[in-house]
Amino acid sequence: MVVQTERDDATWYECEQCGMLFDEKQDAAQHEDTCDAEDPSYIQ
Ligand SMILES: [Zn+2]
Repeated sequence: MVVQTERDDATWYECEQCGMLFDEKQDAAQHEDTCDAEDPSYIQ
């Protein structure tokens, strides 16, 4: 899930799984498709 967040008067889009920030919602959504940080505590 991509989370919209405000920081330094700018809007960022955060990958809820790994916390990575993007300035384009499309980039965040694209990242999330390939994000492998899903539930890391359960994988290991
Ligand atoms: Zn991610």
